[in-house]
Formats: sequence, C-alpha cells, structure tokens
Amino acid sequence: MLFRESLVPFAPADLHYGLRSEFMADKCLEKVNLVIGAYRDDRGQPWVLPTVAQAIQLYHDDALQNQEYLPIAGEQSFCKAAAHLLLGCEDSDMQNRKFSFQTISGTGAVHLGAVFLSKFLAVPKPLVYLSDPTWDNHVPVFTHAGLSVKHYQYYSTETRLLNFEGMIQDLQDAPRGSIIVLQASAHNPTGVDPSQSQWEQIAETMKSSGHFAFFDCAYQGFATGDLMQDSFAVRHFFQQGIEMFIAQSFSKNLGLYGQRTGCLHYVANPGSEASSTVQRVASQLSSLQRSEISTPPLYGAKIASLVLNDKTLSKDWLGDLATMSERIAKMRAELQGRLEELGTPGNWRHITTQIGMFAYTGLNESEVELLRTKWHVYMLPSGRMSVAGLNSRNVSYVADAIHDVVGKV
Ligand code: PLP
Repeated sequence: MLFRESLVPFAPADLHYGLRSEFMADKCLEKVNLVIGAYRDDRGQPWVLPTVAQAIQLYHDDALQNQEYLPIAGEQSFCKAAAHLLLGCEDSDMQNRKFSFQTISGTGAVHLGAVFLSKFLAVPKPLVYLSDPTWDNHVPVFTHAGLSVKHYQYYSTETRLLNFEGMIQDLQDAPRGSIIVLQASAHNPTGVDPSQSQWEQIAETMKSSGHFAFFDCAYQGFATGDLMQDSFAVRHFFQQGIEMFIAQSFSKNLGLYGQRTGCLHYVANPGSEASSTVQRVASQLSSLQRSEISTPPLYGAKIASLVLNDKTLSKDWLGDLATMSERIAKMRAELQGRLEELGTPGNWRHITTQIGMFAYTGLNESEVELLRTKWHVYMLPSGRMSVAGLNSRNVSYVADAIHDVVGKV
C-alpha cells in the first residue's frame, strides 16, 4: 500500500463545512445558521441579484455564445472592467503599471499570487504577515504555497477596535521587503477597517519599509454599498506607487459564489522599467496558470462582464448592493437594540460599528458552544457571526439566545 497511514494521515475536517453538515442534520425548527459567508434575503433564502438574473438571461438569449476555452489570462472584457472597478480611471502611465488575470474566484487569486511569490522570491523568502485574526483560509493558502506566515497586531479584544498603533509598530518592525496581506474592506472576521487617514499612514509605512502589499478584496460594494469607498485603500496604494498584488472576488458583491469568479491584479512600482516588469510577471503568471488550471472558467466571467460593462446593468447593480448592505445594517441595529433592551451584560455597540458580512461578537468559545447545543444557533467558535444569516423572523430569537448564554460559561 503506497499511501500508508504514516504517510497520509487524516486531515482535520474543515471547520465551516463541518458546522454546515451539523446544521443540515439538526432537526430543530428554530435552528439558525450564522456560519455561512453568503448573503441571505429576509426569508433566509439565497438571493440571485436581479441584475445578475438579467445578465444570465441576456447571455442565454444570445444563441451565438460559444463554449470554447477562454485565453489563459481569462475573459479580457471582464478583467478590464474588474480592474477599472477597483483601481478607477488611470492615465497611460498607470495603465502600463498593471496587469489583470482571471482566477478561480478570490481564493484562486490569493493562491496564484502566493505561488508566484513563493517561486520567484529570493531565498530566504520574505515572511507573509497576516492580520491577527484573519480569514481562516489565509494561513493554509499561503503555507500550502511554501511561504511562512506571521501575524501583525490588528484587533484589540479589549476595545473591540483596530489596534492601529500595534499594527503600525509591527509593520515597521517587519524585515524590509516583507509581504503584508491587507484586507481592502469589511475585514473578515472582525468587521473592523482602518479609516481613510489610517490607510494613508499604513501606505506611508509600507513605502518607507519597502514592503510588498498583497490586498485581498472580497467585499467591494458589499461593505458600505459604495464601490468607491470600499476600494479606497487599493486606489490610494495604486496612486502612491506601491507594488502589489490584489486578489479580487465577485462571490459576494455579484452573488456569484459557486461560479468562482475573480481576478488577480499585479501593479508594479512606477518608473521606466514598470512596463517590462509587468510583462515578465504576466508571462510567468500565464505559465503558472496553464500548469494549474489551463484556462479559467467561462460562465461567471461572462455574466460579470455583462453586468460591469453594460451601462444600465451596472447602474442597477448599485441598487442590488444597497439592498444587501442595507439589510445587513438593519439586522445589526435590530440585534444590538434587542440585546440592549434585554439588558444583556456587556456593551453591544460594536455590532453596529463593525461593517460588512460579519460581526465579531466577543462571545467566547464555550458560549458559542452553548448557543449551538441549547439554542441551535450556529456560529464560528471565534464568536464570528454572519449577520447575513439574521432576518426579521429570527433576530429576536438569536438575541434571546445570546442573552441566555452570556456569562453562563
Ligand atoms: N478573502 C476573504 C477575506 C474572504 O472573506 C473570502 C470569502 O469568504 C475570500 C477571500 C474568498 O472568496 P471566494 O469565495 O471568492 O474564493
């Protein structure tokens, strides 16, 4: 037997998908899933964005659409529109500094960027710095690519705010030329983002320390409903001439979760060599992509391209983004209001000051477990709640459940 147990032990089960199976098997009628990182409407159902539904219709109405392979770098009309959405209008110098590549959604973009860095950085390879805490797939994706990770201070459990001084200190202390992973908006899991002036200071520190920025942008437009506001950090870094990768996902903001629609953008430092650097990096990304997936998937990119490039659809899409972000903001306010009404011990203001899909509730692991076993309310052991799982029918039930468990274990 080639794959003896000593060679291939069991891998630990995935936390999210493990909880999802447990939730599905749970027979309790009141059960509430606050694990899922996917939008739900007020009936608790998955939501196809009306603009995306229209784009799907347009795509299927066009009988001439063929199902051929895309180029290795993906659907260009999609990549261009995706870059424009993130980086805005640029002059020709800025145009020459960047290259965009279609990937298997946001995860695939982080992966492709990580594999590239791992392959081409000189030994000893720079460390990858991740926020503490961060999206729980960051560590596996970067380490799987052969990179070593460390954390920089980000969230203060005491104030439930950004530990900005700690973050800047750690970025300054990191060896020159480190890779710093930054989340562009709606930080997962904390829902706590730097302010615009803090982003400006972070950019300064990145520049003076010669660090490489690796942005992960999974929630543009989903965080505040405003595409520009949610991409401020990325555009500011671009204007400041900082070299970077940007992993961009259309899972949440277009609701294309299962279609695996995303991009990796490379941005070079300004200067006479920018254009040739971009071309060399693009050639190597092509070669990596070809060996890993050959060419990226067609369908999601076509649908996204229709929405992003059509004047009416792209305008209507803003309405869809508002629908999602406003419903989530409403649920945050209702949950906080109900907890305050009940007099639940502690301070619950952070539920509304945090933004995006997730609330970092501050519940401890035992309280989270009691929520699941006694109340059938599921969230991650870290206390991260997907606010998208709340709706007008279950928000009071969830507040009652939280009220019951707080301080009991
Ligand atoms: N990055 C962050 C911070 C995320 O929260 C997610 C999804 O939850 C991703 C990347 C991956 O997104 P995708 O589903 O597009 O691979």
